[in-house]
Amino acid sequence: MRVEVDQELCISCGACIDLCPDVFDWNEDDKAHNIVDEVSPELEEQVHEAVESCPTSAISEE
Ligand code: SF4
Repeated sequence: MRVEVDQELCISCGACIDLCPDVFDWNEDDKAHNIVDEVSPELEEQVHEAVESCPTSAISEE
């Protein structure tokens, strides 16, 4: 599975990074971005939580 953060929608709340620091981190624009191309199966549950917690629905899963 893959994830992507829509940079236009991210409001830098930090929820995804708190919930799943192995997959999300801040970028140089102080927005969240994914730091892995492929999410390992053991992290998928955390990523689902991050997707559901994002206040602007900026994270998409593929
Ligand atoms: S939870 Fe959503 S709005 Fe908050 S930092 Fe992550 S991508 Fe941005």
